[in-house]
Amino acid sequence: MLVLRPNCECCDKDLPPDAADAMICTFECTFCRDCATTRLAGRCPNCGGNLVERPIRPADKLAKFPGSTERVLKPQGCGKAA
Ligand SMILES: [Zn+2]
Ligand SMILES: [Zn+2]
Repeated sequence: MLVLRPNCECCDKDLPPDAADAMICTFECTFCRDCATTRLAGRCPNCGGNLVERPIRPADKLAKFPGSTERVLKPQGCGKAA
């Protein structure tokens, strides 16, 4: 099951579980679409893997399996613009 981290690692933008612009790598490093495309060119800066759209967990499942509230922020890996 996905952890569903609540924010972008680069810019700290809120990415709630229903965010349509959340992107993740295979380890679930989480970024907003803006950072994923403009800063990271579709590659995770932590593991080098590709970033894909995070699936949206349906609201009824979210009540039973809520997303993480633990924010992860690593702007140093996100290029000079950070
Ligand atoms: Zn971002
Ligand atoms: Zn990664």
